[in-house]
Amino acid sequence: MTALYDLTVLEAAQALRKGEASARLLTTAFLERIESLNPRLFAFLEVTADMALAQADESDRRRAAQKPSDPPLSLLDGIPIAVKDVLAVKGIPATCGSKILQGFRPPYHATSVKRLIEAGAVILGKTNTDEFAMGSSTENSAYGVTHNPWNLTRVPGGSSGGSAAAVASRMCCAALGTDTGGSIRQPASFCGVTGLKTSYGRVSRYGLIAYGSSLDTVGALGRSAADLLPLFSTMAGSDSLDSTCMPDTVPDIDLNALQSVEGLRIGVPREYFIDGIQPEVKQAVRTAVDQYAAMGASIFPITLPHTDLALPVYYLIAPAEASANLARFDGIRYGPRVEADSLLEQYLETRGALFGSEVKRRIMLGTYALSAGYYDAYYGQAQKVRTLIKADFDEAFEQVDVIACPVAPTTAFEIGAHGENPLAMYLEDVFTLPANLAGVPGISFPVGFDQQGLPIGMQLNAPFLGEEILFQATHAYQLATDWHKEKPSP
Ligand code: GLN
Repeated sequence: MTALYDLTVLEAAQALRKGEASARLLTTAFLERIESLNPRLFAFLEVTADMALAQADESDRRRAAQKPSDPPLSLLDGIPIAVKDVLAVKGIPATCGSKILQGFRPPYHATSVKRLIEAGAVILGKTNTDEFAMGSSTENSAYGVTHNPWNLTRVPGGSSGGSAAAVASRMCCAALGTDTGGSIRQPASFCGVTGLKTSYGRVSRYGLIAYGSSLDTVGALGRSAADLLPLFSTMAGSDSLDSTCMPDTVPDIDLNALQSVEGLRIGVPREYFIDGIQPEVKQAVRTAVDQYAAMGASIFPITLPHTDLALPVYYLIAPAEASANLARFDGIRYGPRVEADSLLEQYLETRGALFGSEVKRRIMLGTYALSAGYYDAYYGQAQKVRTLIKADFDEAFEQVDVIACPVAPTTAFEIGAHGENPLAMYLEDVFTLPANLAGVPGISFPVGFDQQGLPIGMQLNAPFLGEEILFQATHAYQLATDWHKEKPSP
C-alpha cells in the first residue's frame, strides 16, 4: 500500500472522498515525514502543526456533515500544502529568509493563501527561501541552506528551494512558490518536480512581500501539472486588494482537451541552446521535444533575438525595484532593531546588521541605477530593452503555441559552488528571466536525469494568460512518460 505522504494531490483527494483516509491522518503522515526529514533537508523554516491539525479536523467535520444534496467540497479540502516564507499566513512568522523580519507575524493572509484555506487546504508550514527571494540556490537564507533531496551535497535551486525540496521529498502534497526571475521553475527543475510560474497579474500579489514588483508572480510546485491545476484555479483571478491583478476570468481548464498534442505548434528558440550549457541538459530537452513530435506536435525552430540582453536588463530592473521595496525595513515598523544614539544611526545599524550580503548588494546596485543622473542611462534604458524582449515573445507566439527550452544551463550544483561569485549565480537564470520580463507564464517539469542521477527539467512558455495550454501540453507529456513519477530515496 502506498504511504499516505506518497499520494499526489489528486490521489489524496480521492482517498478523502472515498473515506479511505481522513484529513487528520493525511496531515499527521506529512507532519511525521517533516519531523523525520526536515533536520536533514531543512526545507521548512516553520512547521505549523497545531494549525494544520485544527484545519484538518475542520475539514473532516465538513466532510462528515456533507449531505448528498450539498454542493461537492473543493478538491483541495483536507489537502496538506506548504507555503514559501515570502507569503503572509495570518499569525504565522513570515521571515522572507531574513533576520530583519525575524519574529514578524503578519496580521492577514496573502490572497493566494486565503483562497486555498477557504477551499479547505491544510497549511503545514513555511518553507525556506533565499533572503527576500534573491538567489538561485536557497543558500542566501539567513537561517541555513536547504539540501537537495536527490543529493544532500547539492543545492535545491532557488529561491523557492524549500518548497521544491519539500515536494520532492514528500513532506507536503504541493507547495506555493514565487517566481521573479525563475524561482519556481529552476528549483522545480533541480528537484525533479513540476513548477508553474503564472502570468504577471494572474494571481494576486497581495500579501506577497515584494521583491521586484513588476516581475513578482505567485505560483505553485507539485508532482504534476494535473496536481497543480486545482491550486492554480483556486488562487487565480481578480482581487480588489491588488490593482495589478488581471480582471479576466480564469477559464475552466479541461486537462484532457489535449490528450493528444496533434497540431500543437512548439517553437524551439535557437538562442537557448548556447555553449556552456551542460550537454546532458541539452540532450534531455531535445529528447523531450522529439517525444512531443512523436506524439503529433509540430516543431519549429524560432528566434528570440534579444535573449542575451535579458540578464543585464533583469539585474538592473529587479535590484532597482528591490531597493525601493526594501526601504520599508528600517527596524521601526517590522521585526527586530539595533538600538543606536540617533534615528539615522539606528536605520543604518539595523539594515547593516540584519540584511545579508546579497540583499545589500542588490540595494546598492538598485539605488545606484535609480539615482538622479543615472536613471535614464540604466533603469530607463533597461525598460526600453525590456520592451524588445517582450516583442520577441509576441512575435514568436504569432507562429507557435508554446516555446520549449531548458530551464537552467545546469543540473543542481554543489552547495558553495558559486559562493564567491555572484555573476556565476546570476547566469543560472539566463533561461528563466525572459519570461518574467515579458510577463508570460512558464512551466518546468522533469524530462530526465544527468549521469549523477540529478533531475533535468524542461520549460514551456505560453502567451500572456495562456496557462491553459501549458497545463494541457505538460499533462499530455506526463500521461505518456514517467519522469515526473521518479522520486529520491527517503
Ligand atoms: N535568481 C533570481 C534573482 O536572484 C530570481 C529570483 C526569483 O525569481 N525570486 O533575482
